[in-house]
Amino acid sequence: MSRGRHSAPTYRFGCVLLHDLRCSNSCVFCRAGDEPLPDDLPPAAERRLHRDTASLISRGIRRIDVSGNEPLRYSKIVSYLRWIRPRFREIKLLDPGNLLEEEALAREVVEAGPDVIVLPLYGSHPSVHDACVRNDGAFRAVTRGIRHVLDRLGPRQRLDVSTLFLAQNRDDLPALARHLSEDLGVTSLAVNMPMATEEGVGRFFDEFAVSFPDLRRVVLEMAGVPRVRYHLRYVPPCLFSSRELRRLRERGGVDFFNAHFTYRLGDDSAHGDRLAYVDRYREQVPAEACSACALPSTGACDGILRMYLEANRDHPLRPVTASERSDLGDLLVYRRVNP
Ligand code: SF4
Repeated sequence: MSRGRHSAPTYRFGCVLLHDLRCSNSCVFCRAGDEPLPDDLPPAAERRLHRDTASLISRGIRRIDVSGNEPLRYSKIVSYLRWIRPRFREIKLLDPGNLLEEEALAREVVEAGPDVIVLPLYGSHPSVHDACVRNDGAFRAVTRGIRHVLDRLGPRQRLDVSTLFLAQNRDDLPALARHLSEDLGVTSLAVNMPMATEEGVGRFFDEFAVSFPDLRRVVLEMAGVPRVRYHLRYVPPCLFSSRELRRLRERGGVDFFNAHFTYRLGDDSAHGDRLAYVDRYREQVPAEACSACALPSTGACDGILRMYLEANRDHPLRPVTASERSDLGDLLVYRRVNP
């Protein structure tokens, strides 16, 4: 298990994964929907969830992500969220969001007090979103879920909508940003580069990877949609010309997060191997251009995920110069999202 040039990270936030649950989606980048998984968390997985949570608490970790295939399918999710509420400073719940179509569940989940609820939307229209998650009706369900959550959020709570750059939705992403802002009143969008699970690496290359030129083009088109703030995760800034980076900086509301993961699974997690974020393809490595780039020394970029580099062989990267770095200011500071 190599961490390349990175020293051992310090873990200040943790994650529990409810993976032993069926998911109503069957996303193109994920295998969960293909597996015969139970409708509710089996007793052994429930014990592991509590062990993992206790392990994080005992190590003084006060920020937790509750994630997995479809955590809201767990019949005791609301009482679990209530139980962890006083034990963590920040709780983030990540779920496909389909079950939040049910208004009563949406209310209970929000009232259980997570600080951030992250729901994914992959397209502006059912034909795109449902194709990405391979589940007819998912767009309608998650869109209703987003509305239910937005209607109930307390003053210290937040809904984050996230999406992915996928071959299946890349040309629709500007329309998605417009849909979020104009129809749902959501003006912040986290746009992630996909990270395949171990089993999905082959499919990443064959079925859903987006090329660097397409990525650059789509980001610039998205920047043309007014008012929306974009958090770009694992998009190398060196794909853009100096002029383009300056334009993004002048537009405002765009930031890049491109730092090495310091994500921590519970010590007891049986999923550690399967989801190891340091596997060969998810390892963040320096590309050739990185040695001439001003970003690594300032901590604004730790290199590039190996899978993106391999999917875009020979694509030239343009190292960012020191003077550009100082001109670009907060365009490149979003990395501290995961301190
Ligand atoms: S550090 Fe490497 S990957 Fe990051 S912007 Fe610079 S050249 Fe690109």
